[in-house]
Amino acid sequence: MPLPSTPKRQRTGARRHRHRLADVAAPIERIGQSLIDIAGFRFNEADPSVRQIERLGFRPSNVTDVFLTHADPDHTGGLADFPEATVHLSIEEHARVTEGHARYLPSHFTHGPTWRTYPASFDRWFGLEARSLASARAANVLLIPLFGHTLGHCGVAVRQEKRWVLHVGDAYYLRAELSTAEHPIAALAAQMADDDSLRRESLRHLARLVDEHASDIEILGYHDFTEFPSQAAPMRSR
Ligand SMILES: [Zn+2]
Repeated sequence: MPLPSTPKRQRTGARRHRHRLADVAAPIERIGQSLIDIAGFRFNEADPSVRQIERLGFRPSNVTDVFLTHADPDHTGGLADFPEATVHLSIEEHARVTEGHARYLPSHFTHGPTWRTYPASFDRWFGLEARSLASARAANVLLIPLFGHTLGHCGVAVRQEKRWVLHVGDAYYLRAELSTAEHPIAALAAQMADDDSLRRESLRHLARLVDEHASDIEILGYHDFTEFPSQAAPMRSR
């Protein structure tokens, strides 16, 4: 089924909030038991981003922009909790979503996100392609193509004063992959890659950034607990 695309569409208030915490409220219907079992998803109403943002004193409507590294289900859960936000991602990743590629979860997009997509660019960032984001609030945010895990997978680089933070998404699952191709997780990473040759090339780029620009760039991923902020609450296990 084709998914909604830009431009922004009219939405009623009721429709905007119909999906609030939908994955937590109805995980079997929204995600399906088999994917829940495979991925090991856990559901607790206190955990989703929208709840964590509220605990910081913000409203969900304060979230105006979301930057997606890629659209796998473990990265898009909760997207419907921010229906007013513009969702920025590479044009390649958006195309795979709209094509209905089997790795993505259509229920995560039925609220009709406002997409903003980015094509290839000649701009460079530490030797890598950089796609400047078109939001005034994102003047210091770049999409950095790190293809392979998915065909439109990008890192998100955020300037913080004199340094950059590069969120690598799933370019690696564990940071140890940067130093060895023999890590046991490499087999899973290869299996999950839409293009494993590109995935390994992206890993080499990241290893170079760590070697040559450690003082300029902090690199962190999404799945490696050792990279989580120390004050972060550990994920519940039940
Ligand atoms: Zn992924």
